[in-house]
Amino acid sequence: MTFDRAQQLDALLEPYLQARREQQLYRSPLTLESPQGARVLQGGRWLHNFCSNDYLGLAQHPALIEAGQAALARWGAGAGASHLVCGHSQEHAALEDELAAFVARPRALVFSSGYMANLGVLTGLLNKRQAVFEDRLNHASLLDGGRFSDGDFARFAHNDCADLERRLTDCPSPNPWVVVDGVYSMDGDQAPLTELAQLCQRHSALLMVDDAHGLGVFGPQGQGTLAAAGLDLQAAPVLMGTLGKALGSFGAFVAGSQTLIDSLIQRARTYIYTTALPPAQAAISRQALRILQQEPEHLARLHSNIQRWRQGAQALGLAISPSQSAIQPLILGSNERALHYQAELLAAGFWVSAIRPPTVPQGTARLRITLSAAHQASQIDALLTCLAQLQRQDPSLCQDPSLCQGSSLCRGSSL
Ligand code: PLP
Repeated sequence: MTFDRAQQLDALLEPYLQARREQQLYRSPLTLESPQGARVLQGGRWLHNFCSNDYLGLAQHPALIEAGQAALARWGAGAGASHLVCGHSQEHAALEDELAAFVARPRALVFSSGYMANLGVLTGLLNKRQAVFEDRLNHASLLDGGRFSDGDFARFAHNDCADLERRLTDCPSPNPWVVVDGVYSMDGDQAPLTELAQLCQRHSALLMVDDAHGLGVFGPQGQGTLAAAGLDLQAAPVLMGTLGKALGSFGAFVAGSQTLIDSLIQRARTYIYTTALPPAQAAISRQALRILQQEPEHLARLHSNIQRWRQGAQALGLAISPSQSAIQPLILGSNERALHYQAELLAAGFWVSAIRPPTVPQGTARLRITLSAAHQASQIDALLTCLAQLQRQDPSLCQDPSLCQGSSLCRGSSL
């Protein structure tokens, strides 16, 4: 007998792929030939990297690598089981204690990724018909969590407290949840956390903040956007943070009350039914937390790099967003345009990713430029110089073309 079931499956799948190609929405990963960093080897060329989430440059910090090597030697390669079977090691337990102390909450629970943490919280804790209001620009993992949960899921207009208040006022069910990103992953702007906490207090709503891009970036030592806003557990009872971005490691956690964490251990399926993170990875995250507290220079350098970028881009008249975070998008509109600029920058030696729908709303395709403490000032200046050249070919890149023509970068730049 000959089989042709794979052919049958491919025939079913191919039309979707073809449509994605035609809409300039087809995606495929490029393969790194060097470790993550401010300069990376790709396709045999060294590129200036402006698209990683390694905001503090910790992925290559020698102390993290040493901590990982020592923990690998002590604990071996893998956890071997889920936390609740026999995969929960002293490294995991210590990481949870240290994370809780760092974000000033009674307890923390480690998940294998931020996607799983968000899914676990929302699908695990929302009761049938419990309302959950999410900012419409929330990360996909939060939106999926709300959608896949038993709750009544709705989205409110981005950072629009008036829209949220109307929805909370009309909400028939008690104990609604309000779920936001601390820093929006594709726009870099921050949620108005103080207003949101006040709104939640007035309406007895429960605020959950995903601080994937705020942890390690905002707050005195990088404790995140809630700490920066002076909001504690009572104001925002659910905090999610990731360990694979500014902390340079991998994994995620949820922090909150003892009861919140106990409930997640019983109810979060993405915690219960998956292998625990390798203990060595937990050891790397613990080292990253120590570095955040002992070496403030990384945070300071990140913010000075962000300011250098913003000042340079403003001088060029580029249409930058109000973001103060490491994420500095340049919104270009069409998918073709975003891909065109990505290709131009790549040709000039800069790796900047074009972000297209459905990751961002239709018509807002963009270059998502990210800054890191690992960038040299000269790399940021070189990117600005390259954009200035591109801008001369396409003045619509500028918010204000007269500004751009007056800019010294724009007048005399060469790569
Ligand atoms: N939340 C936000 C806001 C993110 O940007 C990401 C990024 O990927 C995640 C959650 C998921 O985290 P992880 O990459 O650890 O799955």
